Amino acid sequence: VDFEHCGFPEALNLNLKASGYEVPTPIQMQMVPLGLLGRDVLASADTGSGKTAAFLLPVIMRALFQSKMPSALVLTPTRELAIQIERQAKELMSGLPRMRTALLVGGLPAPPQLHRLRQRVQVVIATPGRLLDIIKQSSVELGGIKIVVVDEADTMLKMGFQQQVLDVLENVPRDCQTLLASATIPASIEQLASQLLRDPVRIIA
Ligand code: AMP
Repeated sequence: VDFEHCGFPEALNLNLKASGYEVPTPIQMQMVPLGLLGRDVLASADTGSGKTAAFLLPVIMRALFQSKMPSALVLTPTRELAIQIERQAKELMSGLPRMRTALLVGGLPAPPQLHRLRQRVQVVIATPGRLLDIIKQSSVELGGIKIVVVDEADTMLKMGFQQQVLDVLENVPRDCQTLLASATIPASIEQLASQLLRDPVRIIA
């Protein structure tokens, strides 16, 4: 697979070039086509593998032209990771029409995050605790979510976020696509995957 042959809009191809993403990494070669086909994926992928772009490209394609409510949700364990993911998402989405992100993370004031959410956001990047708080206040509409990413799932479990992740995902449509990335796949991740994924394709970076 080559990014040029994925059917991306021209602006996205240009953004990939501008970011220096000429040759897909192994995880991207596997995850991008599967993600574009709508498959659930269980990926063993560590930081440095290019996993962020691997899940963001399907996220962006599923969120394109869905301008009314958020259509993609990326869950990640820490604020720092969320900020990095949003930065990469913005780079890749530059010049695409009506594509906006919202960052919903703990440790930063909630009101500006809620303000941003109200401005027709397509891609929500969140940590589980803050997103649950916002869900409980009925301040986010997740009924239009078509694709969910659970990033660094092993770290989520280590940080004790399993129940929060499950609670968040109770609020997205049952038929939505799920991509789960984890550096390692111990039994606890297998179990989480069996709860969250439908007929997943397993890939190893
Ligand atoms: P990640 O594993 O997602 O944290 O990405 C690791 C680094 O690789 C980041 O700095 C990315 O910008 C970079 N990267 C991701 N995909 C590619 C690619 N196809 N070609 C070159 N660099 C990439």
